[in-house]
Amino acid sequence: MQPNYRRCISCRKVGLKQDFWRIVRVFPSGNVQLNEGMGRSAYICPQVSCLQAAQKKNRLGRSLQASVPETLYQTLWHLAQNDPQNQN
Ligand SMILES: [Zn+2]
Repeated sequence: MQPNYRRCISCRKVGLKQDFWRIVRVFPSGNVQLNEGMGRSAYICPQVSCLQAAQKKNRLGRSLQASVPETLYQTLWHLAQNDPQNQN
């Protein structure tokens, strides 16, 4: 796989790194946050369907080996529902 390609943890789609949300378990604090920080990362398509599946099956938590705070899911839901690409 080329270095700038990533795979969605939910639907397994492969795409460019910038097409996904990057969820990071920051080292060394262990905080789980969106798009910033260095540490273990998981990638997910910025859309409702992938977010829903990831939350329901705790794919983010399992991928990161950390618990994902409710506030982060709320942020992601807010972003997904305000993305004009999802208004169909
Ligand atoms: Zn996806």
